[in-house]
Amino acid sequence: MQPCHSSPIQRCMKTMTCKELGGPCDQKLSAGSWDEMVQTMVTHVMSNHPETAEAMKKMHEQDPKKWGRETKPKWDAAPEA
Ligand SMILES: [Zn+2]
Repeated sequence: MQPCHSSPIQRCMKTMTCKELGGPCDQKLSAGSWDEMVQTMVTHVMSNHPETAEAMKKMHEQDPKKWGRETKPKWDAAPEA
């Protein structure tokens, strides 16, 4: 895959919906990297879906890699905008 930071001004952003990331709503979340998307999703879930945040926390305690394993391929497949 081509590195997407060829322009110094325009960052490569990908957009995924909350739902694609395991959340309950259709809000679009954008990030320039997977790590940033994780942070964006965590922040979104904590401020909008406390129950989902709680469920994700439990899931993380049981299997810390599960969410990433299921969700990262969707990030990788998301088109760069
Ligand atoms: Zn949401």
